[in-house]
Amino acid sequence: MFSKILIANRGEIALRIIRACREMGVQTAVVYSTADKDAAYLKLADQAICIGDPAPAESYLNIPRIISAAEIADVQAIHPGYGFLAENAHFAEVCRSCKIEFIGPPVSAMAAVGDKVACKKLAKKAKVPTVPGSDGAVDDERTALRLAEEIGYPVIIKAAAGGGGRGMRIAHNDVSLQAGLRQAQAEAENAFKNSTVYIEKYIEFGRHVEVQVIADAHGNVCHLWERDCSMQRRHQKLVEESPSPVLKSKVREALCQSAVRLIKAAGYTNAGTVEFLVDKDQNHYLLEVNARIQVEHPVTEQVTGLDLIKEQLRVASGLPLSFKQEQVPQNGHAIEVRINAEDPERKFAPSPGVISELRLPGGPRVRLDTHVYAGYRIPPNYDSMVAKLIVHCPTRAEAISTMRRALGEFHIAPTKTTIPLLMQIMDNQNFQSGDVDTGFIERVMLAK
Ligand code: ADP
Repeated sequence: MFSKILIANRGEIALRIIRACREMGVQTAVVYSTADKDAAYLKLADQAICIGDPAPAESYLNIPRIISAAEIADVQAIHPGYGFLAENAHFAEVCRSCKIEFIGPPVSAMAAVGDKVACKKLAKKAKVPTVPGSDGAVDDERTALRLAEEIGYPVIIKAAAGGGGRGMRIAHNDVSLQAGLRQAQAEAENAFKNSTVYIEKYIEFGRHVEVQVIADAHGNVCHLWERDCSMQRRHQKLVEESPSPVLKSKVREALCQSAVRLIKAAGYTNAGTVEFLVDKDQNHYLLEVNARIQVEHPVTEQVTGLDLIKEQLRVASGLPLSFKQEQVPQNGHAIEVRINAEDPERKFAPSPGVISELRLPGGPRVRLDTHVYAGYRIPPNYDSMVAKLIVHCPTRAEAISTMRRALGEFHIAPTKTTIPLLMQIMDNQNFQSGDVDTGFIERVMLAK
């Protein structure tokens, strides 16, 4: 096992990794930008190294500065967390060429699944169902129109390098397809410096169900069951749960086996997530692979009893996974909600600044992953998520009522947050009965 690692991230995930390392007796160094200089978690690491100004390009995305920090701290490995450089194959390559282990998959596997078009091709080879659509990039209108006629409207235009729901356009007819193609290409170029887009059938009233996987370098590939993340706003997850409230057991098994087949075909090791769309008839189609630890990993930790960060460190250091597939339970029901510093009354505009009042929820069956405290200043430079509230109960109904109770205890001011919307979701009858899809929040709950 490593004796010291560098954490190339910030906020709650940096703290989450520090906690796992502390329990394992692994020392930590954490990088930070000047915007994060007062963050309390920096004091929990063994070492904290300032790497630059607030802009991500000057700090959390700056590869030379992160590598210098790793060398100063004399670490054996780097944990990239999620976001920032987590899925950057070039960064992984640079780390390893400097003899620093990157806690994530091999570069070849990252490349195989990182580009969505390439990933779809690999999925076809591995006999994993994909959404009907273009086999490769689509760059001209004529090809787009011909394809749409073939697969039928509605279709969705997506960025090959996409992430975070950006660069996507839904088209219901030829006119909106033509306009959407140009917009999606421009947005993709802007966000990812890669204008490549592709087209697939838009699965209406679908659910987002993903499978957590983890593999070691000794040939063990395990799935850790599914998470249902259908409660989304603008293709961004707000609520995640495990098990899915609707999946038939045969479908669950098929989904998990598809995920394992794809991960094996990619020669993948470490933790990853295979995302699927599940349609009304419970057919499943691959969406993409996320080659990193995900925000919603605690849901899986609660139902399986495993610590995913510790397993990531084990695998990266060359040890085998600490368990076998048959030993992975899916106990009870876990729900996570994302508490973002955003104002639901103002179109979810970010609400940065000082948190002057804070009362955190607790009590039985409640887990809170957060780096914030009373007096903390939320910097305007990064993602707006300030906390993840997770509950784990014997049944889904109990998990929902525990979540309502915990959300009710959560007081944060004057920062505006998504808490009122999350409470509304817990109270919603369709959510309670599991009768929702990826468009539900916007179509039903936020339609004014
Ligand atoms: P990103 O990488 O930007 O998160 P994904 O491919 O994971 O993009 O898709 C994010 C969300 O967008 C999905 O959870 C789903 O809500 C929606 N989506 C993507 N592709 C489709 C599709 N073909 N049909 C219906 N919804 C889709």
